[in-house]
Amino acid sequence: METRDSLTGRHLIAGEWVTADGGRVRAVNPVTAEPLNPAFCQATELQVDAALRAAADAAAQTRGLPGADWAALLDDIADRIEALGDTLMIRANEETALPLARLESERARTCFQLRLYGQEAREGSWVDAVIDHGDPARQPLPKPDVRRMLRPLGPVVVFDASNFPFAYGGCGGDTASALAAGNPVIVKAHPGHPGTDELFAEVVLAAIRAAGLPPGLFGMLQGATAESGSALVRHPLTEAVGFTGSLRGGRALFDIASSRPRPIPVYAEMGSLNPLVVLPGALAERGDAIADGLSQSITGGVGQFCTKPGLVLVIEGPDTERFIQGLKARMAAIPAGTMLNSAIQTGFRKVTQGFPGVAGVKVHLEPSCSGYTDATPGLFEVDASTFIARPELREEAFGPAALVVRCRDLAGLLDSIAAASGQLTGTVHAGASDDLKVVAAVADALERGVGRLVYNGYPTGLEVCRAMMHGGPYPATTAPATTSVGTSALVRFARPVAFQNTPDALLPPALREANPLGIRRMVDGVLIA
Ligand code: NAP
Repeated sequence: METRDSLTGRHLIAGEWVTADGGRVRAVNPVTAEPLNPAFCQATELQVDAALRAAADAAAQTRGLPGADWAALLDDIADRIEALGDTLMIRANEETALPLARLESERARTCFQLRLYGQEAREGSWVDAVIDHGDPARQPLPKPDVRRMLRPLGPVVVFDASNFPFAYGGCGGDTASALAAGNPVIVKAHPGHPGTDELFAEVVLAAIRAAGLPPGLFGMLQGATAESGSALVRHPLTEAVGFTGSLRGGRALFDIASSRPRPIPVYAEMGSLNPLVVLPGALAERGDAIADGLSQSITGGVGQFCTKPGLVLVIEGPDTERFIQGLKARMAAIPAGTMLNSAIQTGFRKVTQGFPGVAGVKVHLEPSCSGYTDATPGLFEVDASTFIARPELREEAFGPAALVVRCRDLAGLLDSIAAASGQLTGTVHAGASDDLKVVAAVADALERGVGRLVYNGYPTGLEVCRAMMHGGPYPATTAPATTSVGTSALVRFARPVAFQNTPDALLPPALREANPLGIRRMVDGVLIA
């Protein structure tokens, strides 16, 4: 395999690779702790301004561009990512320590996602066109002709995630959905994988040039300080923000966006405990199999998934102790894994070292954080009343650890679920011998606090599809009505506009009487496909 040494360490602004005096930062190989070449620039406020101005110009120039053109751009980006081959794989592996096999599947998911969102743009019905014909003869007042659809917002700033350098990276879900919805994108590269982000920026620039689109349609700024990210969110030309990362970071950016003279939406996907309930019938019928699956789900990817089940809830019964011991034995057999970076290892150590300080917490397996980024699995146990009383036990341990909440009865279980509200997912394992009413009560309690409910499975392994909901009530996200994965992600970067008594020739094609795009529309209360 070939390695690449031609990365520039520069920002991409208005189609140019530019440098800056804002200082330099290097990515670090998580395995060797050695800094990687090249040194990357840190964006300045002037560069933030230049990128946003170019993006706003591009938004003006591409307004009205057909969905098919956005789809062609996304298809070309996917093709070019695949054509990067080992160059992308090697750099991402050096920067993140994610195994090549994992990176290959993540690349496939990323390219599938780009093409799927492109299909959505090409087909066109996602704009949710609704037409209510007017009636000039209506008494006592004439009824106006009103037509509504979703229109693009303008420049979107995307903060890519450390834990999915491809699928939530520079060309990941936020970028793909913002482009598919017809918006320019400025990516704030993640300091954990700046070279990977530069490769993505190169690919997007080449696709934009090949399509003859304005170069300001995509920009990428490097940096490892909060200043550049804050400046991007504060900038008056930014219209929306996509973010995946920590609660601290997402909340800070949400607060900045809300306190602007003109607030803008921040679609931040943050931490999640992903409560997983194992009911007594399930424990009796397949406790060992659940311990197998759960131990894999907690520790897969060194536990660095936003969907990792970090909270396991059980009701006291004859099989409970055996199940916990089985889970412990399986997790103890899993060797140390290399985490994405030393900051994530530090965060994992801090949260898991805090658990035993809470009276009543039992340590089954103490994680060991060694070397620069290594960590072994951790398993803790607590009773329901302590769990409910101590909010620090609801902090996300981002890594291979879980807390078992041992509940005396169904009431304790339901109260514990309610205390842990605001999650991306909730899971219930039920057996044939579990009372259906109990299963329904547990599922209902989970549903009230999560975005996705999983039955008899595991929340890790997220399907990219039309029906997916990857979001949830705060603190899982800052926008519980939306999803960051699946084709509904596009609507985050558009807003509805109603056109009243507008001449047909002045309407966007999606709303014209003859339906020239052939899209699905709601006309006078009837869905016309
Ligand atoms: P992060 O610290 O939230 O950083 C994510 C991005 O946001 C980076 O580009 C960072 O830029 C920027 N940022 C963060 N705080 C900011 C602020 N106050 N102002 C401006 N920009 C800001 O996330 P991370 O580095 O990926 O991982 C740290 C922790 O986040 C993990 O240990 C884990 O707890 C959590 N995390 C959760 C998920 C999840 O899906 N649940 C995923 C990844 C990480 P700078 O670094 O340049 O400031």
